[in-house]
Amino acid sequence: LAKLDGRVALVTGGSRGIGEAVALRLAEEGADVAVTYLGSAERAEAVAAKITAMGRRGWAVRADSADPQEVRAAVAAVAERFGRLDILVNNAGAGFVAPIEETGLADVDRVLDVNVRAPYLYAQAAVAHLADDGRIVTIGSCMAKRAAFPGGSLYATSKAAVIGLTKSLARELGPRGITVNLVHPGPIDTDMNPADGPSAGFQSGFTALGGFGRAADVAATVAHLVGAEGRYITGAEIAVDGGFAV
Ligand code: NDP
Repeated sequence: LAKLDGRVALVTGGSRGIGEAVALRLAEEGADVAVTYLGSAERAEAVAAKITAMGRRGWAVRADSADPQEVRAAVAAVAERFGRLDILVNNAGAGFVAPIEETGLADVDRVLDVNVRAPYLYAQAAVAHLADDGRIVTIGSCMAKRAAFPGGSLYATSKAAVIGLTKSLARELGPRGITVNLVHPGPIDTDMNPADGPSAGFQSGFTALGGFGRAADVAATVAHLVGAEGRYITGAEIAVDGGFAV
């Protein structure tokens, strides 16, 4: 451990679920970690307190991913407070499943703003601060790779868009030694998708392993990508999905 000593990470949506697990794992590895949140101030503060208890610097920043000014301000504030930025994890996301006929314009805007525009704007703002061996990881979804059931058109559109962002930015930032990667979780037990929820059995049936994953499973892969051992992986899509997309 302590592979990320001296590194500063920003994890969006770090108050719960996969983002919380990523934030705590990066702190375990030695990084100072700032997390953003939208409504869960107490939970975000609790994550920051756990990071501080590990002897790292932790910080919870309220920043609505749907608001470009709040996104930019969050990146600037973290870089200023911690004096540098090495790792950006674009995790905050809006889940959405509904038939296309029942999907309104407000739904389209919200999902694309949070799942597509925000990762783009976070990356854009971070590029100005990232160290020359910096890391960007975005959390996509297995639903961008396999349309296993109907109702995913908006969510899959949003998660497929970040494939383009990842590949193109990997090419653009490669000369600086910055890697850019995408992790596609399968069904992971979180508030967004509880393993005891009504569609859990249905979702499990699409995986090769026959069940849900844990947020820590995704965090382990993110930790590998952002650590020194991930230095030669860029522009990649890595599934942590129990075989959902095979
Ligand atoms: P949760 O709903 O459990 O947690 C979402 C996190 O994102 C929370 O920290 C939440 O903050 C934050 N967030 C949501 N909207 C905003 C916003 N507008 N601005 C700032 N923060 C926001 O989700 P998961 O942990 O399950 O999902 C994390 C990522 O993984 C998402 O991108 C999701 O699409 C993706 N994913 C999840 C899968 C799953 O099965 N769970 C499968 C595939 C992909 P707050 O607590 O303040 O609301």
